[in-house]
Amino acid sequence: MKTNLLDFDLDGLVAWCQAQGEKKFRAVQLFRWIHHKGVADFTHMTDLAQSLRLMLQEHAEVRALPVVSRHDSADGTIKWMFDVGQGNAIETVFIPETDRGTLCISSQAGCAVGCPFCSTGAQGFSRNLSTAEILAQLWFAETTLRREFNTHERVISNVVMMGMGEPLQNYAGLVPALKTMLDDHGYGMSRRRVTVSTSGVVPMIERLSQDCPVALAVSLHAPDDALRDRLVPLNQKYPLAELLQACRDYLAFAPRDFITFEYCMLDGVNDSDDQARALVALVRPPHGEPLPCKFNLIPFNPFPASGLLRSPAARVKAFASVLSDAGIVTTIRKTRGDDIAAACGQLAGDIQDRTDVAGRRAKTIRIHA
Ligand code: SAH
Ligand code: SF4
Repeated sequence: MKTNLLDFDLDGLVAWCQAQGEKKFRAVQLFRWIHHKGVADFTHMTDLAQSLRLMLQEHAEVRALPVVSRHDSADGTIKWMFDVGQGNAIETVFIPETDRGTLCISSQAGCAVGCPFCSTGAQGFSRNLSTAEILAQLWFAETTLRREFNTHERVISNVVMMGMGEPLQNYAGLVPALKTMLDDHGYGMSRRRVTVSTSGVVPMIERLSQDCPVALAVSLHAPDDALRDRLVPLNQKYPLAELLQACRDYLAFAPRDFITFEYCMLDGVNDSDDQARALVALVRPPHGEPLPCKFNLIPFNPFPASGLLRSPAARVKAFASVLSDAGIVTTIRKTRGDDIAAACGQLAGDIQDRTDVAGRRAKTIRIHA
């Protein structure tokens, strides 16, 4: 099997090239061809020595993922499904806006956290994606869209790790991918434009602040442990007090001076005014320092068998008002691409569940307890 060069950040590629007897600056050139210019064919890498190109052809490749399907939404959103082998498929979503192009990337085939309102969680968990599989989503989308839009300019300006999977439960695969997104020889994205969204893997939030601080979004969904234990089962391991402390600690290293809290609005579950007030108290404790944060309310995107309903628009507005009246910047997320099931929480891919998360969940989780 040839080495897939999408598996390396720049340090990794330098080490691999040096092991083949090549100098560091050759690795930088190669890295730029792959990620900066989007070239996969070594014969086109004209400033590399002929001997190096031959070596690469023999031992290496830039291996993208096979596309299973592509859906284009009326609003310009594009969803690709990629085959990652052994019956697993993952999804990637491109969301164009006037001032930016955002790619929503998957980090795992399935997810083991098993939040009952999330169709990825409902599919169970198969495995972590490799760095190459994470970067292949960006590499492919960027090269494809540049060709289609007939431009040499960058099309994707922002990345959100909000596709399938819990990125901080795939830390080893994630970090080299993030580093490549940030690298000036790679995609050259600013740290503020790369967001990791997590359901709250506390020790890994701490590690990320040291290894690769990027913008952080935390999926909160509940103002107290009793409800969050059910909505985000990882809360049983890392309860709210620990999670909020980890958020405070992260801010000292973060590229932005706030944490984004995501909050999926579920009718009659987590959307009352009292719950909004409890959230305010959580991030603005009466006897403590306020936690600098913004709230992003996501109207629940229903999927079959969730048994849950989206909060009515008026309820979402009223909930948002309680937060904003307390001085917390609050936005209501526009739903994009829902005609092609590309909206938040609708990415289901095709997962060979090895953990029976779905089965166990069906037996144990009762939201309207
Ligand atoms: N595992 C990570 C990242 C992927 S989920 C996390 O949970 O943060 C990305 C966002 O979509 C999360 O905030 C998640 O809570 C939200 N989400 C999941 N299912 C949803 C649904 N059905 N409707 C609306 N938002 C959903
Ligand atoms: Fe996993 Fe995030 Fe879905 Fe929860 S919301 S099941 S953590 S992908």
